[in-house]
Amino acid sequence: MKKFVPYFLLIIILGCLISLLSNQSKSKIEYIEIGNEGTKSIETVVFSKDKKPKNIILLIGDGTGLNQITLSRIAIGGVNHRLAIDQMPFHGTSLTHSYNSIYTDSAAAASAWATGIKTKNKFLSITHDKKIVPSIPEIIQNKGYISGLVATSSITHATPAAFYSHIDSRYKEEEIANQLLESPIKISLGGGTKFFNIEKVKENNLLITDIKDLSTENFLDSERVLGLFDEDGINRSPAKPTQLQMTKTALEFLSFKSDEDSCNGFFLMSEGSQIDWAAHDNDAITMITEFIDFDKTIAMAMDFVTADKETLLIITADHETGGLQILGDKEGMVKVQWGTGRHTSIPVGVYAYGPGAHSFTGLMDNTDIHTLILDAIDASNIEPSVCSD
Ligand SMILES: [Zn+2]
Repeated sequence: MKKFVPYFLLIIILGCLISLLSNQSKSKIEYIEIGNEGTKSIETVVFSKDKKPKNIILLIGDGTGLNQITLSRIAIGGVNHRLAIDQMPFHGTSLTHSYNSIYTDSAAAASAWATGIKTKNKFLSITHDKKIVPSIPEIIQNKGYISGLVATSSITHATPAAFYSHIDSRYKEEEIANQLLESPIKISLGGGTKFFNIEKVKENNLLITDIKDLSTENFLDSERVLGLFDEDGINRSPAKPTQLQMTKTALEFLSFKSDEDSCNGFFLMSEGSQIDWAAHDNDAITMITEFIDFDKTIAMAMDFVTADKETLLIITADHETGGLQILGDKEGMVKVQWGTGRHTSIPVGVYAYGPGAHSFTGLMDNTDIHTLILDAIDASNIEPSVCSD
């Protein structure tokens, strides 16, 4: 009898392995209703190629590949609908691989934009051999610029963190939170209370945790603002701010401060973090809901560029998530299939509007976006200066 026990164990282990492997190769099929909403046309203006931008807005759709955009377009208003992102005047394509993998994670991708170097997945703004590389907010703070960050994840999550943290693991979020408090970032809005030492936050920051306080009139006289609206990532509910609300507030704050303190300009990065999370779950409806908040943020930022005329808006994604395929339509429904629950190496779109936008076309590497941003404001020729605090 004793002899049989190892065989039973072996059979159970083999059974588990087979079921695990077959689950991984199963691709989820979903049917999504085709929408009929009309296109909201966004007014854009043409900028001369010699005009230099003063401010930079970088909007990131985490996990937002071309098919995430295509499916959202169809689900909102059908194939002929035009989203805000579709109305961006300049388009390019970005490769996304990291230093050590054809599949990047958000940490390596955001480090590429922030610092211009390829690093290993999970690393934040350090080289593959752990040397610190300055990020855009750190480079431009001595050139009279102020910076802000917005995310629907925790503000210590990989994408925002690459713009202020230098660390060998994106998962060390308490250390990352401490690095944010030491960083040049003037306004940070997202989730993540559980990673911060709240007493330490209050020493140098106005802390806001309630959506009711997310109005610039409450804090225009504050030097630094940290908005933490959830323990970790923002649980979506009407009681919590959207990407659109946080981005609008951050823009108002940065514009006001930049004028008041005679800065050369501002840099704002805002991420729709949870598009990626829904794609990991192969959940198309939630993915589209998350994309809608992102696209409304894009529409608002485009209106800002049109009115302000001195701001360059760039939109891209860190990578595609889910291997999403769009397979056909029948009786008002579109058939989609997810290929994986992970990231893929499919290139992503780059979209630009405003002075300097014409440079963001053709095929580029994600590290090129860093260089193109600094070149657009001619950072290497700006004399060292700081805003008058
Ligand atoms: Zn992801």
